[in-house]
Amino acid sequence: MVHKSTLKPVFAIIVAAGSGRRCPGPQSKQFLNLNNQPLYLWSVKAFQECPDITNIIVVGPRQNPTALFEMGQKTTLFDKVIAVVAGGDSRTESVDIGVMTLAAKIDTLSEIDPILIHDGVRPLVTTDLIGKVAEQVEAEQIAIPTTTPTATVKKIVGKTITKTLDREEIGLAQTPQGVPYGLLREALDYWKKNPAKPITDEGALIENLPPEKRIGVTTINVPGESSNLKITFPEDLQQAESLLQKESSQEKPYKPGQATGFGYDVHAFAPNRKLILGGIEIPGHTGLAGHSDADVLIHALVDALLGAVGAGDIGRHFPDHDPAFKNLCSLHFLERAMAIVREKGFYLEAADITVVAQQPKLAPHIPAMLTILKKTIASPCQLNIKATTSEGLGFTGRREGIAAYAVATVTAIDYP
Ligand code: MG
Repeated sequence: MVHKSTLKPVFAIIVAAGSGRRCPGPQSKQFLNLNNQPLYLWSVKAFQECPDITNIIVVGPRQNPTALFEMGQKTTLFDKVIAVVAGGDSRTESVDIGVMTLAAKIDTLSEIDPILIHDGVRPLVTTDLIGKVAEQVEAEQIAIPTTTPTATVKKIVGKTITKTLDREEIGLAQTPQGVPYGLLREALDYWKKNPAKPITDEGALIENLPPEKRIGVTTINVPGESSNLKITFPEDLQQAESLLQKESSQEKPYKPGQATGFGYDVHAFAPNRKLILGGIEIPGHTGLAGHSDADVLIHALVDALLGAVGAGDIGRHFPDHDPAFKNLCSLHFLERAMAIVREKGFYLEAADITVVAQQPKLAPHIPAMLTILKKTIASPCQLNIKATTSEGLGFTGRREGIAAYAVATVTAIDYP
């Protein structure tokens, strides 16, 4: 599902300042590589690509100036990043520094502007989730994405389990978490004066405010994404890698801006059949053999249309063993092929058809064919029909049947 763009300024603070004690090795977690890119840069990329996001502040590790410098260099590619700053000793301190930097950089920052705080070690956040969180933030409304635990959850007191909790009432918090600037500033100031137990997310930071300062404030639960995992342990990184691998193996098929398809068909003459060509009946001549009305011209055109949008061939959509298509007027095939063209996101730009027949003379019938074909296509396009003989050569020359060739060019609806 695609959410609506919020059209209000939305700012992001990506916190990548941690020292990452739980992942072994000399590096902090946010600098570990996922498909040759440090984790924090995946987040920066997702926020850069999200149309809702106006500007981004990246908060890096204070205790590692080399890494911080490198962060500054790597993020210059992303024009929404307006600052890379050194963070503090705790997550909340780093968020505070990020928010102060933002306020110093953006003169027009208003109390109600959403600020999205994201953990730099959640590399697979999607632009869709970012947008959904941004959309929910209002003056007295914060938004937190959560997922439901898959395991049964127990309440533990000391060494004993005291209760099985209702999973539906439990949410595992993710980021980005969205808070309006005014409320976030107030909660950070309060926390600085009243340092409480470690605060691990913005939801807890707001809960840390005394109740009288939270009147009217609601926290919206946004459905999180299971792929939005936090890289804490080495196996999380492996899981992220396999998620990316899965995603790339399901890559969307390439969609061209414009494409051309080609179609070819032959039908033999048969006694006691009407000759139907280009959607009209041509009187006084033997018809063509076939399961449907054997309109060879339309069949070639349908194959060209299907070919142009990569949708296989006429036999796949209208099998000749299907009784539904017996003696069916081929204009129905054309109508259906046009619907497939539209479903695939294209419109027909132009089609050109050549019919090869020794007999009958087709030129006088072409205007009537064009009229009915255009009516069936039902959208403006350039349509051309040509008739030729094969100078007496081959099966058409021997008056055994009729052949038709067609090319069709389609343009993507969103093509500039
Ligand atoms: Mg055919």
